[in-house]
Amino acid sequence: MRPDDATGTPTGGPGTRPGDASGAGPGDAPGAGSGGPRVTLADLPVRDDLRGRTPYGAPQIDVPVRLNTNENPYGPSASLVAGLAEAVRHGAADLNRYPDRDAVALREDLAAYLGHGLTADRVWAANGSNEVLQQILQAFGGPGRSALGFEPSYSMHPIITTGASTEWIPGAREDDFGIDPGKAVAAIEEHRPDVVFLTSPNNPTGTALDPAVIARIVEAAPGMVVVDEAYFEFARTGTPSALTLLPDNPRLIVTRTMSKAFAMAGTRLGYLAAHPAVIEALLLVRLPYHLSTLTQAAARVALAHRAELLGTVDTLRAERDATVEWLRGHGLKVADSDANFVLFGVFDDRRAVWEGLLERGVLIREVGPPGWLRVSIGTAEEMAAFRAALEGILR
Ligand SMILES: *Cc1c(COP(=O)(O)O)cnc(C)c1O
Repeated sequence: MRPDDATGTPTGGPGTRPGDASGAGPGDAPGAGSGGPRVTLADLPVRDDLRGRTPYGAPQIDVPVRLNTNENPYGPSASLVAGLAEAVRHGAADLNRYPDRDAVALREDLAAYLGHGLTADRVWAANGSNEVLQQILQAFGGPGRSALGFEPSYSMHPIITTGASTEWIPGAREDDFGIDPGKAVAAIEEHRPDVVFLTSPNNPTGTALDPAVIARIVEAAPGMVVVDEAYFEFARTGTPSALTLLPDNPRLIVTRTMSKAFAMAGTRLGYLAAHPAVIEALLLVRLPYHLSTLTQAAARVALAHRAELLGTVDTLRAERDATVEWLRGHGLKVADSDANFVLFGVFDDRRAVWEGLLERGVLIREVGPPGWLRVSIGTAEEMAAFRAALEGILR
């Protein structure tokens, strides 16, 4: 069982949403209440390799202070909302037609945002970087193939990997949550994975990787290397992106998202940069018209307003650094963070701390190695509420 499983959370099943009065989780079959025999997942002819698995389950609980899924706490301004509404109104007039299947205008905008001399043929987009990662596994993983990642890291990497009938090979990070290049190369030579996942800055630890380490891993890897840079915009000044390594490495893929720094998690827009041949491979597995007209339009408006959206990043970075200091000042162990969250501990009973915070209206995430907890960086008011709640528990 993975450490970030939502088991034992006060909601119903992992799919339960706030306000879902039925409390029905995915285990409750439709019709279960209509008097028929109760059917469970175990009764269905589901794939053998999915039996016994647990879905992704960050709890969605309606509480005053939500600091559990690394969202940007700042909502769009009124003028951005107006821009989005106008783009949707414009796009709505054409909704009888399929969207641009290759999302060319959006990919041009994304390439311009990324810089590094990138062009639309080197950029790909999908519904969140999770879908981008799934397409990568569909194209480069599959039955008889494997993917290796260095844990603790993003829980979706193994879930997407096994969902694509690909074997997951857990590699290890060091005590400081960095990756030892010598050990990483040894693990790659031992397992010969078809895909290697590197997350930088890493979730849930916040650790950024030195591009020299990434370069050594790319050199050793027999297959594709994916650098998940979901949190790149939050990295401390001077931290280079793996995009700098792209020109020499056709087997390198760098993924990004508009869900975190861009404050657009609800839009569902993730993207990647890679060699044009990689994008040709992804075209073989993507569903036609996967990115709706409205998603493409909203993402382009967000990119046009990037000064406003990314304007919150410096505030969040300062709040993050202050949170690290405060937690250390209270005798806690804290991982250095280049992201918009902080991993801290070590608690004998982290569940009790997590529940104590929840009772005080603050939702954080029970994730990472045993004893650690992760708090996303919110507004100054939200972080004050977090500190007050935690102080009440530590006392
Ligand atoms: C949040 C996160 C993502 C983003 O997923 P989206 O599908 O783009 O919302 C990707 N990778 C990591 C490591 C994350 O933490």
